[in-house]
Amino acid sequence: MLSEFDLISQYFTRAPRADGPIALGVGDDCALLMPTAGMQLAVSSDMLVAGRHFFADVDPYTLGHKSLAVNLSDLAAMGARPLGFTLALALPEARAEWLAPFAAGLLALADAHACELIGGDTTKGPLNICITIFGETLPGQALRRDAAQVDDDIWVSGTLGDARLALAGYRNEFSADLHMTGDDHARAATRMHQPTPRVALGMALRGIAHAAIDISDGLVGDLGHILQRSGVGATLAVDSLPPGPVLLTQAQAFQRQFTLAGGDDYELCFTAAAHQRDAVLAAARSAGTEVTRIGCIEALSGLRFIDANGALLDLQLTSFDHFRTT
Ligand code: ADP
Ligand code: MG
Repeated sequence: MLSEFDLISQYFTRAPRADGPIALGVGDDCALLMPTAGMQLAVSSDMLVAGRHFFADVDPYTLGHKSLAVNLSDLAAMGARPLGFTLALALPEARAEWLAPFAAGLLALADAHACELIGGDTTKGPLNICITIFGETLPGQALRRDAAQVDDDIWVSGTLGDARLALAGYRNEFSADLHMTGDDHARAATRMHQPTPRVALGMALRGIAHAAIDISDGLVGDLGHILQRSGVGATLAVDSLPPGPVLLTQAQAFQRQFTLAGGDDYELCFTAAAHQRDAVLAAARSAGTEVTRIGCIEALSGLRFIDANGALLDLQLTSFDHFRTT
């Protein structure tokens, strides 16, 4: 069995890049960061708990990826550039067969975003992964939830619903109506286990988009946060939502339910003035990410749904809430 310090030095200690923003990384009482002069620090934490956010026996490589991806996604939703992150880890036991792939998945994504592991804490206990991430953004240009304006377009990046579809497969939900081959389920499951944080898109939307949020608990619930914080309402054109490629093969009722109230998508939902449509599309192209216009911000509070003919739809949806009991 590895000691706590062997474990940290073997799996979680790397020298920070000399030309980067980390003056001192893992190994001292604190890490030291040097944000670019004049920038604002963006800070966010996310905790992943075994049995709640992931299955305890999930592949450790993808778990390492997802643990950091959900935090990078929060930076993306603010339009912030990643600087570094800390990792607080509770582990039932220190097993190399688990730690090596977990660290590999985590650090591969960290490298892809030049976001360094700068410290953390390690303790024995039920598996629990808490990452705090640090980024920087231009003062006045962060994409805040409270900044949506009446008549803004509503946009979403990528596709929605495949992660939720994968979960339905694992849970054997709706088994009479859901039809998925093993290959389809594997493709959808990749969306669930290895989400792609839209960091480049978030940064490219600075100065163009008004409000943004990343979709972790389902589009309706997360867009609802923008509406509430901005004091506005919205109409969503349900048939313009982009279902994931696997979800596209399912019945329309599932497509609507899982795009609107899925979860684990980690796409960006953002608003921008209608005169910025070309700028939004150019930003998306520069980031290599598709975006789709899905609705409009309105003064009337509440969220309305329309179909392709503009007719109002009465949809009953619920989005995920850890503390809701019904
Ligand atoms: P302290 O007693 O000051 O809390 P620790 O002994 O817990 O320090 O940690 C020693 C060093 O290792 C610190 O720099 C800490 O940030 C780092 N560290 C601890 N756990 C992790 C981890 N899981 N990932 C990265 N760095 C870690
Ligand atoms: Mg400690």
